[in-house]
Order: sequence, then C-alpha cells, then structure tokens
Amino acid sequence: MSFQSLGLSEALLKAISKKGYTTPSPIQQKAIPPVLEGKDVLASAQTGTGKTAGFTLPVLHILSENPKTKFRPIRALILTPTRELAAQIYENVKEYSEFLDIRSTVIFGGVNQNPQAATIRQGIDVLVATPGRLLDLEKQGLVSLKRVEIFVLDEADRMLDMGFLRDIERVMKLMPAKRQNLMFSATFSKDIKKLAHGILQHPVQVEA
Ligand code: AMP
Repeated sequence: MSFQSLGLSEALLKAISKKGYTTPSPIQQKAIPPVLEGKDVLASAQTGTGKTAGFTLPVLHILSENPKTKFRPIRALILTPTRELAAQIYENVKEYSEFLDIRSTVIFGGVNQNPQAATIRQGIDVLVATPGRLLDLEKQGLVSLKRVEIFVLDEADRMLDMGFLRDIERVMKLMPAKRQNLMFSATFSKDIKKLAHGILQHPVQVEA
C-alpha cells in the first residue's frame, strides 16, 4: 500500500516524501481511510507506531479540502497529556502542512501564556494543546472552541492516569456536539472504554 492510494492530497504527499516516508505504517493504513470518510475512530496504538501521522495527515487533508472562513476559527483540536507530546505533535503538524494553507500552534502550561494567546488571536486552524492551559485560556476568553470540527484525543490512557478526566469533560462541553472525534490509546481499560463511549459516535475501531 502507498500513501497515494490512501487518497491524500498532492500537497500532503509532497510533505510526506520530504520526511522520507515511503510506506504508510499499519496504523496509518488502517486509521487514515475511515478518518478521511468523516468517521469517528478509536485507535489502539503505542508511541512509535506512526500514530501521530495517522491522525494528523487525514485531519489536515479534511481541513484543506473544506472552505475556510475569513476569521479562521480553530477547526481541529488535538488534546494530549504532556507538553513534550504537544510539542512533538505540533512539529509534525507544521511539517505535514508545509505545502498547505493551514495555520497551527501549540499551547501548554509552565510558560508565559501571552505569546500563545497572541498567536491564537491571529487565527489558527489547528490547535495542539494540553488540557490545563487550554481551559485557562478559554476561561479568559482567549480561545474559543465553538467552531471545532475535528477533536483528537491522543494518549487517552495517559490522560486518565494523569487525572485529566474532568478536564476532558470540560473541554468537550466547549465544542459543538456535531463534530468528528478520534481517540488514540495504547491500552483499553474499562475506564478508557467508558470515556470512548462518551466521546465517540459509532466509531470504527482500528489496531496498530
Ligand atoms: P509516532 O508513533 O507518531 O510517535 O511516530 C514514530 C516515528 O515514526 C516518528 O519519528 C515518525 O516521524 C516516524 N514515522 C511515522 N510514520 C512513518 C512512516 N510511514 N514511515 C517511516 N517513518 C514514519
């Protein structure tokens, strides 16, 4: 299987080839098609499987296919538990969107919020965030999630281990009910299944 046959745009294929990837990894082969079809996806994948591209590539494809509005509201939210993961995902988003008209940024705690808020004010299509800082900025009216079309919950099991369940629930209330949801987790405990049930609608389940 090739990246071309997954139906990704030329601009994405160019970025993928610049990264040096020749073949989609198993999780990419399984997750990208249903995401492109607009379905909710529940994916079981560890770090190192290529899961980041598994959700980032189809999200970027969908956003770039559909029209933007002048005010560029946040259209995709990628929520992840730690600043390291957030920074890594953002690096990927930046690289894969090099040939697209897509703006992205990352926010996490432990650093001054002002530069983050200033970037968001300029209009951002894709926001990568950790829960605490996201909720902080939203409370201050510096971030709005009212136009989010795609929600990605990355490392859901680690989110729960770190005590982010309430924060995830708060974030979900800030987004439109009608949206596409993707959830990635390395493990599937009872709690994760319950969380998935609350977030996803008729999900396609895929495994790395
Ligand atoms: P991840 O599981 O998303 O953290 O990705 C693990 C590593 O695999 C990262 O360094 C990616 O850049 C790399 N990677 C992702 N997809 C592919 C691919 N299709 N071919 C080769 N390397 C990849």
